[in-house]
Amino acid sequence: MRELKNEIAWSWSRDSVYRRCKRAYYWTYYGSWGWWSEDASATQRKAGFLKALSDLDRLVGSSIHEPLAVAIHLRRPGERGVPFERIATQAREMFERCVRLARRRIGDGVDDARSGAGQLAERYYGSADVEERVVQARVKLESNLEGLRQSPYARIPFAHAAHDLLWVDPVAHTAIMSPSETWDAQRTTLADGTTIYGSPDVVVKGNDGFVHILDWKTGRLSAPGDLQIGAYALFIHRKLGTPLEEMKGHFVHFLAPDEHQAVAIDALAEKAALVHGMIVEFLRDLGARLTDPRANRADDIERFPMIEPGPICARCKFRELCGRAGV
Ligand code: SF4
Repeated sequence: MRELKNEIAWSWSRDSVYRRCKRAYYWTYYGSWGWWSEDASATQRKAGFLKALSDLDRLVGSSIHEPLAVAIHLRRPGERGVPFERIATQAREMFERCVRLARRRIGDGVDDARSGAGQLAERYYGSADVEERVVQARVKLESNLEGLRQSPYARIPFAHAAHDLLWVDPVAHTAIMSPSETWDAQRTTLADGTTIYGSPDVVVKGNDGFVHILDWKTGRLSAPGDLQIGAYALFIHRKLGTPLEEMKGHFVHFLAPDEHQAVAIDALAEKAALVHGMIVEFLRDLGARLTDPRANRADDIERFPMIEPGPICARCKFRELCGRAGV
């Protein structure tokens, strides 16, 4: 087994957590690190457990993304249609399995942080309206499945020959790849050696000669200025060597009607440059908070301040560790 190393790395989601709350970033990447070792503290194990929790929005997203990615990976030669019923069945099974999980309640000790995996934060924290929210999330899942069924964009990865599919979101599956292979697939480095992680849903070479990045969205609508696809473009450029000028991006919203379902994102070379600036800023700011930047050590939690109590804390899965479970 290879040695685990807590390396400094950038990804769109890491950057989002960092911008939202420095303390949440600390719990995610430092406070929970080492939860698996025999001498891990109760706080490390609890942070690892809370990190592994899901929530209803995330569950709806993964219940769509994962079966769709598996279907694309395992497409049989000559298969050109979307296996919608198979995807929908797997999505519903995944959703229903997770909404019932109730392994731990707030205040419980944690011996194995992995027991948090898949359990809803809403159940862990005992949200009074959890059953009502599960019903709403189930409706959202069905609306997304209907959007997927009608989507011309969901047909694209199935309509193209396998050699045009340059990238499909890596997914750990007995017939596809192991969890560590998934991890490696999502990783690359910039020219200066900085490690970045990325995982666009689909990258396909189109008949127009451009390389198209498709990103499935199961929630809010994205704006054309959104830089997330710029981050994916930078990742694909480094991972596959595709020139940025040859890429186009598309956010595909399964909740939106057909005519508004896709938001085209262009000027990806400019957006990738802006993302590169974000990475430099992130590394500079994070490095100043570390007690030992070369070893990536964060031994002073106070350098990762908490935000003011409010709606972000009320949805945060680490709120037990911050003493804000009741906000
Ligand atoms: S509870 Fe609030 S302060 Fe604590 S990590 Fe979460 S968002 Fe940050």
